[in-house]
This record gives sequence, structure tokens and C-alpha cells, in this order.
Amino acid sequence: MDNIIFLDNNATTRVAPEVIEEMLPFLTDRYGNPSSMHTFGGSVARKINEARERVASLLGCEPDEILFTSCGTESDNTAVKGTLAMYATKRKVVTTRVEHPAVLATCRDLERQGYSVHEISVNRGGQLDMDELGIRIDDNTALVSVMWANNETGTIFPVEQIAELSKARGAVFHTDAVQAIGKIPINLKNSAIDLLSLSGHKLHAPKGVGALFVRRGTRVATFMHGGHQEFGRRGGTENVPGIIALGKACQMAQKYMEEENTKVRLLRDRLEQGILSSCPDCFVNGDVTNRLPNTSNISFEFIEGESILMLLDQFGICASSGSACTSGSLEPSHVLRAMGVPFTAAHGSVRYSLSRYNTVEEIDFTIKQMAPIVNRLRQLSPFVQSGV
Ligand SMILES: *Cc1c(COP(=O)(O)O)cnc(C)c1O
Repeated sequence: MDNIIFLDNNATTRVAPEVIEEMLPFLTDRYGNPSSMHTFGGSVARKINEARERVASLLGCEPDEILFTSCGTESDNTAVKGTLAMYATKRKVVTTRVEHPAVLATCRDLERQGYSVHEISVNRGGQLDMDELGIRIDDNTALVSVMWANNETGTIFPVEQIAELSKARGAVFHTDAVQAIGKIPINLKNSAIDLLSLSGHKLHAPKGVGALFVRRGTRVATFMHGGHQEFGRRGGTENVPGIIALGKACQMAQKYMEEENTKVRLLRDRLEQGILSSCPDCFVNGDVTNRLPNTSNISFEFIEGESILMLLDQFGICASSGSACTSGSLEPSHVLRAMGVPFTAAHGSVRYSLSRYNTVEEIDFTIKQMAPIVNRLRQLSPFVQSGV
């Protein structure tokens, strides 16, 4: 796996060597249970506290506002279901059409249970209809859940503004910040955000650990009954190595965010410009000004994203397409569909997502492969041949 060019960092990331070094002792010698009375366990509990402080420091909140979970999906589920469980009368949720399935599928399950769910639309540029939001958030709304940055296009939403709007109408505000963490500076101290989800493996920590920020005073139902772990809100012996890793990853993100964003943005722009100038009939999806520095979503007309990925794969280049190939029929991405991207272009979309570990050489190699791949596939395309 030496020759992998990994441009799929919104799907997952390499664990940073510094993070591995920090967590390793807790997989070997320091295996104590943090709940134990002895010093051997107690020293592990202190490392968990340190990790909690590191996550809190990155977010600008208090350590006791951070609850460790098993992943971003668990954080999202807990925020949404745990909030609604605290309201007997308010039965309305407002979210968006472009959320990650961790929020969307949860909301659709609530709908089956009789809740009313409103999914706010986005425009062609991927931005939310703020007028619709203003109308939909009302006194009956228990929860508003809007992601900070979109995983497919990188489009950033004005979450602070939406949080203020929610607060004014008495609704709890949750944001899925899985893609924003480590890429966008966040300070929750003087913010109206009540709940925020994050995930370790999108931030150079391992898979299987996440966190949920719960502002002091925000009511969320206990998500796992059991021991007193996580302030009694989520029982179960802690994923100690994962939590320590997440703490280290957050510490590194805080220290290097600016420097890293500058580097990654340059590489992303180089890749995007290189592709746009060498491949005909392609365009960028999403809001190119309010966008994560690492993400580029490009639609190639008349060809399928999956075919591009398969050919890139032969060079060891990993990218992603928005479509999910289910039962033989290709469903275009719900995000691009919500944006009104035409059918042929939505099918031909590829998401490139970079990290600090990418190099100029990798980017230039990728650019070089793209035009021959696109030209070859276009020659085979039924759309082009029939003149559509
Ligand atoms: C990856 C992702 C999730 C899910 O996180 P997991 O830790 O993989 O469960 C949720 N929301 C967004 C925006 C994501 O990109």
C-alpha cells in the first residue's frame, strides 16, 4: 500500500504518527480501568481528563461539556433523539436536505414515529434557503439540526446565525461539525450552539471514537444506561486508547490548523485548476467561497463518477463519488440532487478531499491522469454518442 495517493479524507483519515505514539501505551502496559480505585487505573482516568481538556480547548468550551462517544453517528443520534426525549409536547424538527445520513436517517425514523420533520432546501450553489429557515423554525420546534460543513461539497453553513435564530424561537440547536473540526476555528464560549458532534477518524485519530458537546444546562436524555462513566450519561467502560488519541488529534489540530489549512488549500486549488483547465465539460459543485479548504467536488458531464474512480484506482488514487450503487441502479448523491445539479452531471461527480499528508507530486500526478481518463470514458459514453 506504499503507492496510495489518498484524496478521500472526508471519508476517513490516516492516523497521525504522534497520535499513535500517544495512544500506544494504553493498548499495552497501561491497561487499567479508569474507574478502578488503584493508582494503576487512576492514572488512566487522569489521561482521559487530559483528553477531555484538549477537546474542550479546541472547541472553546468547558471539559465537562464534552462527552465521549463511539463515533460521529452516535453523537448525531444522541443529540437528535436525546433532545426530543426531553420534550413531551414539542414534536417538530427542522433540518436540511443535505445532512449526512447520521442525521437524515435519524430524522426520517422520527417521522415514522409521528414527529413532523422539515428539511430545508439549498440553492444551486449549495447554500441554505434562509427565508425558509426563518419560517420553519417556530414555537413548536424542539430541535434544529444543521451541519457546519457538508461532507460532499465542503460548503460551509452560517451555523452561528442559525443557532441565534433557533435560540430566539426557543428551539435547541445541534450542529454536525464532523467535517468542520480541525478545518474551521470554533469557539463555543459565546455561541448559541447547544450541541455539537465530532468524530475522531475524520481528524487523524482512529475509528471508533467521537464526542458530543452538550452545553451546560442543555437537557439531553441519558444515551446508555449503565455505570457512572461520562458523568452518568453514557455508561460503559471507556474506549481509553481512542479517547486519548482523539485528545491528541484535537491538540494537534489546534496548534497546526492555520498552517495546515494554508497548505491544503493551495494543493486543493492546484488540483482543481489543473483539472478544470485540462478536462473539457466539467465544473465545480457547491459554494466555492464558503468552502472547506480541503474539498473539491467536480462534475464531469456525460460520464459516470464510478467509472472515473475505477480508472483512478488503477493508479492507486483514492477519491470518492456521491452516488451509491444500490441494486444495480445508480442513485445520484442526495446532496447534488438537492442542489438541482442536472442528472448527467450529478452522475459524473467526483469528490477529492485532501489532508496535510498530501504532496504537490501527488497532486500533479493526479492531474496528469485525469484528462486521458475523461477522454477515454467520453468516447464510450452513450450520452455523447447519441448527441444528448
Ligand atoms: C463521517 C461523517 C459522519 C459520521 O461519522 P462516523 O464517525 O463515521 O460515524 C457524520 N457526519 C458527517 C458530516 C460526516 O462526514
